[in-house]
Amino acid sequence: MVLIGLEIHGYLMVENKKKLFCNCSLEEAEPNTNICPICTGQPGAKPMLPNKEAVEKVLAIALMLGCKVNDRLVFQRKHYDWPDLPKGFQITMSGSYALPVGVDGSFLGVGIQQVHLEEDPARWNPDTGEVDYNRSGYPLVEIVTKPDLKSAEHVHEWLRKLWTLLGYIRAVDRKLGIKCDVNVNIEGHPRVEVKNVNSFSAIVEVVKHEIERQKNAVKKGVVLKQETRAWTGEKTVFMRFKEQAEDYRFIPEPDLPVIKISKQWLQSIKSKLPETPDQKLEKMQRLGVNAVDAQIISSDIILADLWEFLTSKGFPSQRAANFVRHWFLRVVNDEGLYPEDFKGSKLQVFKVLKLFVDKKISDKTAKQLLAKLVKQDFDVETFVKEQSLTVINDEGLVKKYCEQVLEQEKKAVNDYLKGNEKVIHYLKGRVMRLSKGKADQQLVEELLRSMLKALREV
Ligand SMILES: [Zn+2]
Repeated sequence: MVLIGLEIHGYLMVENKKKLFCNCSLEEAEPNTNICPICTGQPGAKPMLPNKEAVEKVLAIALMLGCKVNDRLVFQRKHYDWPDLPKGFQITMSGSYALPVGVDGSFLGVGIQQVHLEEDPARWNPDTGEVDYNRSGYPLVEIVTKPDLKSAEHVHEWLRKLWTLLGYIRAVDRKLGIKCDVNVNIEGHPRVEVKNVNSFSAIVEVVKHEIERQKNAVKKGVVLKQETRAWTGEKTVFMRFKEQAEDYRFIPEPDLPVIKISKQWLQSIKSKLPETPDQKLEKMQRLGVNAVDAQIISSDIILADLWEFLTSKGFPSQRAANFVRHWFLRVVNDEGLYPEDFKGSKLQVFKVLKLFVDKKISDKTAKQLLAKLVKQDFDVETFVKEQSLTVINDEGLVKKYCEQVLEQEKKAVNDYLKGNEKVIHYLKGRVMRLSKGKADQQLVEELLRSMLKALREV
């Protein structure tokens, strides 16, 4: 068995657009324009009190991931020498004296060991030697999982859902990307850590590559060692063994107070959050949604939110679940996309389903409209009117189409009268074609049957 754990870093989305320990802006800007003595690590500069909103966002993340939240938070100095860090240490909550924001959570069956807050170092370009301090002091969340992930596919699916959830609660700015340390080992063998993997696709590639590499090594009888490796874009390469690990000389940050988290503060953050996937799953099943649908929908915040919206508009629970899973999700998958890529609003999706349920459009039209909504939001009712997509259920008109077809299709009619009842499907197809696909299919079939019955009795 393979064991995979992730240390994920994401950029916190703070509305006040300020860095963690100073008032510099987080907006995109020319290099080295959003800087001050604090975030450039000038001698004597001390951090300001941490950005309260950043602390709240990390608390929200810890709560959504089902963590126990500590009532005190301690910042520490993590020392290392690198061109991206002029003051010689990074301020973080992980390390020897850790009292992380959250511990012992779980998300979709994967254990969350810790959630904490830290500052981003500057951005150093090793090719030119240039350093951009705009990123220095950007508030980051670090999420450390237990080694509960099982394969590259599992990592991809789980990470995608986690990132969607954190984007949805506006805790993480997904546009700014992800930074990840990936731990992989074959059960019974030491752990290999791959540092600084910077995209979803690279994380998946690293996992595939390491599983393959380690399995081959074991097959050849090589004794694997605990080591740190780097990703080149094509393969992982050796960096150092565990014994050579850096000593970060952690000390509690003397220039920052311990932050106390009151129950009231925590409660007010909790009250603004959506239900967790587990709560949603329990609720969907309680409302009668079958286990498989409930599992699939509750594990993805976009699907869960759409289901919630449809039921709030009066759709019965299971019917709404059917639509979400068999229509919405299928249309999205057919486009090779994910639910979070869907551009249409929930209201327009609802309008499509309502038109279908009210028999104003056919199922085919409904699915075509959903496929169009994948790419852009538009007003469904106006579009249906403009393109005259409404189903024809005017009995008089449909009857005319049927009569015309029965008149033209003498042979088929005779076959039917002789007992070949399957011919009805052919006749129905002719009527649908005549009506340019717009006649109400059920009405067509009923009318054809009663007209053919009348012919038989003649
Ligand atoms: Zn600054």
